[in-house]
Amino acid sequence: MCILPSEYPRIEFDNSGQCVYCQRWNDKWSRLDFARQSVQLESVLGQYRGKSSPYDCLIGLSGGKDSVYAAYLLKKHGMRPLACTFNNGFLTEAALHNIRHAVDALSIGHVFVEPPAAELGRLYRHFMVTAGEFCSVCNVGIRSSLYRIAKCYGIKLIVSGQSNRTEANSPREYFTCSPGYFKNVVGSVLSAAGLNGFMYMSQLKRVAWHLTRSAVFLELPSYVPWKEEEFKQELADKVGWKGAVGEQHSDCRMSDAKEYLKLKKFGVTELTAKLSSLVRDGQLTREDALLRIRRQVDCLLANESVIRDTMKRAFDLSEDQIDGAIRASHLPYIARTDVLISDVRNLHERFRYKKRKA
Ligand SMILES: [Zn+2]
Repeated sequence: MCILPSEYPRIEFDNSGQCVYCQRWNDKWSRLDFARQSVQLESVLGQYRGKSSPYDCLIGLSGGKDSVYAAYLLKKHGMRPLACTFNNGFLTEAALHNIRHAVDALSIGHVFVEPPAAELGRLYRHFMVTAGEFCSVCNVGIRSSLYRIAKCYGIKLIVSGQSNRTEANSPREYFTCSPGYFKNVVGSVLSAAGLNGFMYMSQLKRVAWHLTRSAVFLELPSYVPWKEEEFKQELADKVGWKGAVGEQHSDCRMSDAKEYLKLKKFGVTELTAKLSSLVRDGQLTREDALLRIRRQVDCLLANESVIRDTMKRAFDLSEDQIDGAIRASHLPYIARTDVLISDVRNLHERFRYKKRKA
C-alpha cells in the first residue's frame, strides 16, 4: 500500500486498495531489466560521444543530488558534458557549493543562465497573485535554458537526473508548467518579445526539434538503478557533495514556501508524491516515508509565520495577498492544447507499456 492520501488529485483505488498511481508505476517500471537498460544506455550515449565539440551532451545542474549524480555518471561513461544552471535567484549555499565542487572535481564545462532579477521578480509575483504558485516560472526557465544552451553549443543530447520513476508523478490538477499554461498566466506582464525571449522557442518548434531529433532528452533514472541514499555517500566521497544523508536536500531557498502552499491548497506536499515513488521502488519503507512526511508537515506548520514572511519579502506581497495565493487556482489557466498533448502522450505511453507487459 502506498502513502498517497485520498486528497491527492485524480487518485482512485481498485478493489485491492491499490491506487491508480501505483498501478501505473508498476505497469511501467516494476519489470525494468537494468542489464538490458544499461546496454541501451551505452548505445544511446555512443551515438553522441565525441560527435560535437567541445561538449557532447548537456545537463541541467541544480546542485541537487540527482543532477550532480547524473553529471558524475556521464563522466564515468566517458562523456564530455556541459552543465547548465538556471539561476532562479534562490539557489541555496549548499547548492552553490555542490555546483562548484562537482564542476571542479569532474572537470566539466559549466554555464549559468541568469535572467534579469527584476524580470524574474515580476514573474514570480504575478504568478503568485494570479495562479497561486511560483514554481512554473523556474521550471519553464530551466527548460528554455536547456534549449538555448544546446542550440548555442550545437549539442543534441540533453541528459536529466530525473524521471517519473523516481520523482513525484503529479497530475496537472496538482502542478503544471506547460508552455500553454505559462503563456496564459503571463498575460501582459511580459511583452510578446519578452515572452519569446523567456521561452526561447515556441511549443511548435520544440515539437519539431524532437521529431527531427535536433534535441534528444535522456532520463538517466530510466536506465540505471537510482538508489538515492547509496549514491549520496558516493557523491560526498567523490565530488564533495554536501547534504544530509537521509534528509531531503534542497537546492532552492523557496522550497519550504512551495511545500507550504501545496499543503494549504491540497493537504498534500510534493515530498509525499516524491516519496511515494521511492516506496514503490523499494528504496524506502512505507513507515519511514510516513515518518518523514509527518516531520516535514510539523516543521512547515511550526514555521508558518517565518515561511509567510519569506514569501512576502521574496515576492513583494502583503499578508492578504499570501492568503489570496492560497485560495487562487492554476486550473483556469491550463491550456486546452496542453491537455490534449499530455492526454495523447499518456495514452501512447500506457499502450506501449501494456503491450510490453503482454
Ligand atoms: Zn498508491
